[in-house]
Amino acid sequence: MIPYGRQHITQADIDAVTRVLHADYLTQGPEIPLFEDAFKAYCGAKYAVAVNSATSGLHIACLALGLGPGDLLWSVPNTFAASTNCALYCGAEVDFIDIDPNSWNISIPALEQKLVQAKKAGRLPKIVIPVHFSGMPCDLAAIHALAQEYGFHVIEDAAHASGASYEGTKIGDGRFSDMAVFSFHPVKIMTTAEGGMVTTNSQALYQKLARLRTHGITRDTAQMTNAPHGPWYYQQLDLGYNYRLTDMQAALGRSQLQRIDTYVQTRRDLAQRYHAALGKISNIQLPVPDTRAQSSHHLYVVRVPASAHAYIFDRMRQSGIGVNLHYIPVYWHPYYQQLGFQKGLCPEGERYYAEAISLPLYPGLTDDQHSYVCSTLENALAERA
Ligand SMILES: *Cc1c(COP(=O)(O)O)cnc(C)c1O
Repeated sequence: MIPYGRQHITQADIDAVTRVLHADYLTQGPEIPLFEDAFKAYCGAKYAVAVNSATSGLHIACLALGLGPGDLLWSVPNTFAASTNCALYCGAEVDFIDIDPNSWNISIPALEQKLVQAKKAGRLPKIVIPVHFSGMPCDLAAIHALAQEYGFHVIEDAAHASGASYEGTKIGDGRFSDMAVFSFHPVKIMTTAEGGMVTTNSQALYQKLARLRTHGITRDTAQMTNAPHGPWYYQQLDLGYNYRLTDMQAALGRSQLQRIDTYVQTRRDLAQRYHAALGKISNIQLPVPDTRAQSSHHLYVVRVPASAHAYIFDRMRQSGIGVNLHYIPVYWHPYYQQLGFQKGLCPEGERYYAEAISLPLYPGLTDDQHSYVCSTLENALAERA
């Protein structure tokens, strides 16, 4: 089976992890700050906090902004459930903004329209989480302008977008948001097995994130409520968690980060080859390039006619191609249905779901495999035409 995505591990990665196994600290050692420093320098952010998953990162990002019961968080339906689960962990409520029919990212007109209504109803969101779907950056400048006007915070779900850029600078540089959250799950752009990173330019948010990751505890005397009792002293200031990454993972991440631009370039080349090969087929909608942004190409999604969708999906799986579907509208999940969400809430996200197929895309996908995916898709479409 050709998977839709997979990790790429080199001998240098293996050596980096092995070095940690022979060293003094398996966790909370020197590798974590080294990885954080390297990642924030890469993104152009002032601060970075490594966490054991993007899910944990989203949770503490919401907590750092004070999200709690009575508050509202908005995101999109076309994402992994973690993008909104983070608000539910905090006891807040969530709602969904429909996606744009071309970029498959958050629709700016739909966001604006919902903000106008929410203002009238006195129920504005505290946080909006735009998701850089497939690695294509959202229109961050437009979201930022609305955030200024309506007074909400922005957390970028950048799980797909390590190495992507928007208007000439890297995602994660915090130009248009409070924080950005990255994932290092093996199918993402770079990996630490499980793992994630939160970047920010705010010192106050950084200090909260760093505490919440480790039980709410600080050893920084400047943050303490009284003078230290002695050199052993630390204080718990918040109800935090153990969301730490290990040193083995941080070493892997730092080694992977050295190749991130090569990874993104390889993905871009593969995406361009898909575009060239599939562009001549009718009945298929391809991702639309955005001149203002450079995708990291986490996913290559095509849309096929809804009437042929199930057939093509099965046909490709039967041909040994591990196509996938990103994503089921989040509020269609039974858990969200039970919270009261109704189907029909985001028509574009639902239309998208009936048509989308993620094709294999990862460094290591061979030319032959790539051609095989294209010809199998073309044949399957023709069979249903
Ligand atoms: C993968 C993913 C997450 C969660 O990442 P983990 O590191 O697995 O917790 C969150 N949001 C999106 C959009 C994702 O694709």
